[in-house]
Amino acid sequence: MTEQRKAELAEALAEVRARIERACVRAGRSPSEVRMLAVTKTFPASDAALLADLGVTDLAENKVQEAAGKAAEVGSLRPDATVRWHLVGQLQRNKARSVARWAAEVQTVDSTRVAGALDRAVRSARESGERTGPLDVLVQLSLDDDPARGGCPAAELPEVIDNITRSSEMSFRGLMAVAPLGVSPDSAFERLAEIAARIRHDHPEATELSAGMSGDLDEAIAHGATCVRVGTALLGGRRLTSG
Ligand SMILES: *Cc1c(COP(=O)(O)O)cnc(C)c1O
Repeated sequence: MTEQRKAELAEALAEVRARIERACVRAGRSPSEVRMLAVTKTFPASDAALLADLGVTDLAENKVQEAAGKAAEVGSLRPDATVRWHLVGQLQRNKARSVARWAAEVQTVDSTRVAGALDRAVRSARESGERTGPLDVLVQLSLDDDPARGGCPAAELPEVIDNITRSSEMSFRGLMAVAPLGVSPDSAFERLAEIAARIRHDHPEATELSAGMSGDLDEAIAHGATCVRVGTALLGGRRLTSG
């Protein structure tokens, strides 16, 4: 069973990597500019461990509780793997303490309140020896200004980013966005790219642009994505919907 699943994942991984490469070639970019996060939400820790065996060590989850458990499980299944966990779902302030223990990167900071909670949580996790380095942070931009879907309105980006860059516990790495439903990914990512260029003007170190999922990673790469977040195309359809 495990061997069969591993072969399945290896085949899907080869396809996704080829797709990323083709999109990069079309965009005149180098595939080395685009990292891929495997979004393992709703899939078991055993799948995450097999991905790590296949060399995929950037793993992402969208729910804090599921992620905390899975990160611990993968840690015991593959004690020698250097997996980096990423949070790509909405973060409530009261979950910041958990995130500070297992996340290498949070891509969904969208308010000064969440930034403040992470600053305190990372500091206390470092003081108690539960974490070593600072937290990499991307600010999630809302492309539809719908607060229910998470993300920071463009007008509030500078203030949120200021809060992050003033903290010694976080490194500001760039922006993340999800293309809104009912809008062409092309126009959504075009707007994202414009805003990202403005942010990079003030923060040249913040080079990351996380955009594109199984359905729209080609368009995202065409518009400059440096990080794509792939679930379905790697792991298959999710039986349970999760965010
Ligand atoms: C689930 C999820 C993904 C992956 O989506 P797929 O369509 O399964 O590739 C990417 N980003 C976020 C924020 C997600 O929640």
